[in-house]
Amino acid sequence: MSIAKELLMRIGDRPTGRWRSPTVGLRRNEGVAVSKRVLVVEDSQVIQRLIEVCLRPAGFEIELRSDGPSGLEAALEAPPDLLILDVGLPGIDGWEVLSRLRSNERTKDVVVLVLTAHAQEETRAKADQGGADAFLTKPFRPAELRAIAAELTNPEFAARSVG
Ligand code: CA
Repeated sequence: MSIAKELLMRIGDRPTGRWRSPTVGLRRNEGVAVSKRVLVVEDSQVIQRLIEVCLRPAGFEIELRSDGPSGLEAALEAPPDLLILDVGLPGIDGWEVLSRLRSNERTKDVVVLVLTAHAQEETRAKADQGGADAFLTKPFRPAELRAIAAELTNPEFAARSVG
């Protein structure tokens, strides 16, 4: 569906009388999708591009970093709604980035999706122990990534993972 059409549908959903009240308008705005910031730390430009092409049309704002240190810096500077983190990275690897984020007050609760080429049980366990929220093996289907990203950035997911 085109964005314009979707917008029209959303506007069409609003009872016009209530829409005029600023207080109600503000309260209602909480339910409107605000674009989520996704930080992608991945050294393969092909995968970077794939993630971008896959998530941008779904309304995500994408920021790209190609190595561990700059990814870590970007996450600490402005914690994203979702961090998509590759494991094999130049500089410091994804596990180390994850560990440093988890030990920092500012980023300890950032939702992290670990991307790896290794599907072994060992890697999965490592992601779990390292505090990753989800795990995806490459190659992945675009629809799969979109679905996971949507679920991980859903406020209900954030509320669940705190408890
Ligand atoms: Ca890599």
